[in-house]
Amino acid sequence: MYKLYCEQHPGKSVSFTIYRNLTMNLRFKRPKIDTCTKCDTLNAKLKYTISNKENEKKQIEELLEEHQNEAENAYKSKSLDKEKYKLNEKCVTYAFDLQQVLPTPYLTSNKMFYLRQLPTYNLTIHNCSDGKSSHFMWPESTGARGANEISSCIYRFIKSIPERTDHLIFYSDTCGEQNKNFIVMNMFQYVVHTHATVNRIDHKFLVPGHTHLECDIDHSVIERAKKKTSISIHVPRDWYQLVRTANKKDKFSVFPMEIDHFFGFFGIIHKRTSPEKKNQNKRYSLVKVH
Ligand SMILES: [Zn+2]
Repeated sequence: MYKLYCEQHPGKSVSFTIYRNLTMNLRFKRPKIDTCTKCDTLNAKLKYTISNKENEKKQIEELLEEHQNEAENAYKSKSLDKEKYKLNEKCVTYAFDLQQVLPTPYLTSNKMFYLRQLPTYNLTIHNCSDGKSSHFMWPESTGARGANEISSCIYRFIKSIPERTDHLIFYSDTCGEQNKNFIVMNMFQYVVHTHATVNRIDHKFLVPGHTHLECDIDHSVIERAKKKTSISIHVPRDWYQLVRTANKKDKFSVFPMEIDHFFGFFGIIHKRTSPEKKNQNKRYSLVKVH
């Protein structure tokens, strides 16, 4: 870096010691490994399109620009929504995502590579206004990681929010099986119809391939704690304890999910779509999923 700096400022460059002191906060990052498929495909097409096909190249460039603008606008929308809380405490923005599976027991023995481990799931809901995170955790023996389980965690979370809140904004990625589906949508609808104060919920999605959410930072904090931990992890509740203590500023709360916390929100869709039950639409009831 210093060499490049000297090349770009011949005769005017400062000494290496001064340069190092001034750039102490700069760090090299590893190359990204989780890049966007659409960006990669378009960039590859652009690179290998024959140079005389100017029209084709222009079309690809326009597609790439449009896609990147769309992704940028989604991030801007999230930043604007986060600011809304400062003007109106009744409107709160959250980001949610499921963490990579946490295997139990967590051992470094090479035999573990060939054995089936019990997965523990963690759905993180990050409050973008105060930076606190709620972690809803359960082992696979209690529940799967489908739309009903995700909805049940969010439903439990919404029941615990302060009563003054009336407008919730949720951000997530577009994973169809977990986040972007009718079951989650119907759970939100159920909340709007039954909650004492919440009367509006917006669920917004980031552009596929550009889905960096605040909960991803929480997950990387947990991953770091996982590597450094001296806690022996033999049962799922050991993971709960690790997550609880992973954030040094005490911003992580853990809510273990038991079988009774899971509901089937698909039943509500059925009620609303069957014509013979039209008159009963105003009466909702939750059914247990397991
Ligand atoms: Zn992209």
